[in-house]
Formats: sequence, structure tokens, C-alpha cells
Amino acid sequence: MECSFCGEQIEPGTETMYVTKRGKISYFCSSKCEKNMLKLKRKSRKVKWTQAYREEKAIRMKPKSGSKKSKSK
Ligand SMILES: [Zn+2]
Repeated sequence: MECSFCGEQIEPGTETMYVTKRGKISYFCSSKCEKNMLKLKRKSRKVKWTQAYREEKAIRMKPKSGSKKSKSK
């Protein structure tokens, strides 16, 4: 089972289950993830320590003809 927020594997029995009003079930590996998603209403893609962020980043960092420009802005 994976954490609904960070995407990490959760050991069976240690997960926290949360059911939304719409009936969607979410599992969290820690109260940290639960808090970020439910209280802080953060998007996992915007939070650096999640799998979703890394995946998003990997997609955006697609190699583009070898040139690497450093961000100045
Ligand atoms: Zn998590």
C-alpha cells in the first residue's frame, strides 16, 4: 500500500486511513503526510519530499538537446 500523499510504501498496520466526504479513501504513512494534505491542503506535486514531486520534476527535466541553462530569475 502506498501513502496517498508522499507515495512511499506503508507497512501494513501502520497506515492511517482517512475517508473524505465524497467517500474517497486515503492512506497516510505518517501524521506529517496527513497534515500536509488535509490541514495544509498542499498538493503532493508541490511538496519536495514526495514521490509525485520527483516524478513531476523528472518529466519537466526531460533532456532537451543537451544544453543546460542555469536559472537566473
Ligand atoms: Zn506519506
